[in-house]
Amino acid sequence: MGKSVTIVGAGLVGSLLSIYLAKKGYKVNVFERRPDMRTTDISAGKSINLALSDRGWRGLEGVGIADEIKKIAIPMYGRQIHNKDGSYAYQPYGKDNQAIYSVSRADINMKLMDLAEQQANVKIHFNKRCANIDRQSLETSFEDNNTKKTEKIKSELLFGADGAFAASRLNMQLQNDRFEYNQHYIESGYKELIIPPGKNGEFLLEKNALHIWPRGSFMMIALPNPDGNFTCTLFLPFEGEKSFANLKTKEAVKKFFDEEFASAVPLMPTLLEDFMNNPVSSLVTVKCFPWVFDNKIGLIGDAAHAIVPFYGQGMNCGFEDCVVLNELITKHNDDWEKIFPEYQNLRKPDADAIADLAVGNFIEMRDKTADPKFLLQKKIEAKFSQTHPDKWIPLYSMVTYTPSIRYSKALSEGQKQQKIMDKIMAMQNIETNWDSKEVEAEILKHL
Ligand SMILES: Cc1cc2nc3c(=O)[nH]c(=O)nc-3n(C[C@H](O)[C@H](O)[C@H](O)COP(=O)(O)OP(=O)(O)OC[C@H]3O[C@@H](n4cnc5c(N)ncnc54)[C@H](O)[C@@H]3O)c2cc1C
Repeated sequence: MGKSVTIVGAGLVGSLLSIYLAKKGYKVNVFERRPDMRTTDISAGKSINLALSDRGWRGLEGVGIADEIKKIAIPMYGRQIHNKDGSYAYQPYGKDNQAIYSVSRADINMKLMDLAEQQANVKIHFNKRCANIDRQSLETSFEDNNTKKTEKIKSELLFGADGAFAASRLNMQLQNDRFEYNQHYIESGYKELIIPPGKNGEFLLEKNALHIWPRGSFMMIALPNPDGNFTCTLFLPFEGEKSFANLKTKEAVKKFFDEEFASAVPLMPTLLEDFMNNPVSSLVTVKCFPWVFDNKIGLIGDAAHAIVPFYGQGMNCGFEDCVVLNELITKHNDDWEKIFPEYQNLRKPDADAIADLAVGNFIEMRDKTADPKFLLQKKIEAKFSQTHPDKWIPLYSMVTYTPSIRYSKALSEGQKQQKIMDKIMAMQNIETNWDSKEVEAEILKHL
C-alpha cells in the first residue's frame, strides 16, 4: 500500500482527488465538515448549477467516471440572450456542436462521493471540521460536529481541498513566513431563483442553452436541470441605485423585475417568496502562494485559487489540478520531493490567469453580450477562425474547449487577439465589410 493521505474537504475537488490517489495505491482518508449531503439536506436555499467543460471532463475521464457524470449533465450549445424589449438572440458557444454541460453542484458532488467510496482505499468521514494542522508532525485535528470531541489524525501527505475559505490554507498562512495572500470581493453578489417546469414537466425556455438577461451593470442567468427546472442566478451590485440594498420589499422586487426582466417574470411564479427567502452571497477571488509546504502538504482547488464564476471554470480548474498532479505522480514515480514543486510551478500561473479571465468575463456577460459591436467582433473572429483554424482559436474556445492550451497561454493569446481586433473594428465600414477578403488580409497582416 502507498503512503497515507489526509484530504481536508469532500467537495468536488477533494472527492475527485481521492479517486485519483486511490487508483495510484494511496490510502486516503477524507474529512468533511458538513454532514453527508446524500442523507441530509444542506442546500439552505442554494441550488447552484455549474457549467462543466472540457478541462473538467478530462479530469473525470482520467479516472473513468465521465460517463457516470454525463447521465446527470445537460449540454448547452450556446447562449440565449434575452433583451429588455422581450426579443432574444442565440449565440453558439463554439463550432460543430461544441457544448458546455449544466450539472447541479450537489448532484455531481454526491456522485463523486459515491464513486470515491467505491474505491477500497478511500474512506470519507463526515461532520469532521479541520481545526488545526501541525505542520511539523503532519498531525491534523478534526472536531466532530455532534460530539465536539477532537481527534488527531497523522498521515504522510496532506491536501487542503476545503474550498475558498479553507481552514487548511489559514493554518499554513499562520505557520509560514512570507505567505502571500490576496482576497478580493467584487462589488456584486448573487441570489438563486427558479423557473419551474411547465404543467407537463416541460422546459419553459430552450433546454440546451445557457440563458442570459444582460443589463449592463447586472444580469440574470439560467441553467437547465434534468427535472425541467432552470436554476436562475441574479448577479447584482450590493449597493447603489440598482442593487440588493434597494430590494428589501416585495413591492420593490416586483417593480425591479417587471422593469428589467419582464419576459422572465411570468415564468417565475414563486419569484417574490424565493427572493425574500434565499440568501445573497458574495463572490471572491483568492490568490495565494506557496501552495505546497515541506513537500508534504499541498493546497488544491478553491483552497489554492478561488475565482469568480463568470468563465464557468472554478471546478474545471480544480479538476485540472488533479489531472496535472496525477501526471506528475506518474512522471516522478511517487517522489513527492519532485511532484509538489512542479505542481505548484505549473499550476500557479494558470490559476492566476483564469482568475483574471473570470473577472473580465463578468463585464462581457452582463454588458457586452447585448452590444452589436461586440457581437460583430465575435462574428468576425468566428469566421476567421473557421477559415484559418491553425491561426486563430477564439479565447472562449481556448479556455473552454482546448485543455491542451494552458490558461496562462490562453490569456496571453487572448490579449494579442484583442489588440488585433481593436484595429479591425476601427476599419472603415466594418459593419458592411466584415466578411470581406480585405478584413481577412488585415488580420493576417497583424498575426
Ligand atoms: C455561484 C457560483 C457559480 C459557479 N459556477 C461554476 C461553473 O459554472 N463552472 C465551474 O467550473 N465552477 C463554477 N463555480 C466554482 C465551483 O463551485 C468551485 O470552483 C468548486 O466548487 C471548487 O471545488 P472545491 O472542492 O475546491 O471546493 P468546494 O466545492 O467548496 O468544497 C470544499 C469542501 O470542503 C469542506 N470544508 C470547508 N472547510 C472545512 C473544514 N474546516 N474541515 C473540513 N471540511 C471543510 C466544505 O464543506 C466543502 O465540502 C461556481 C461557484 C459559484 C459560487
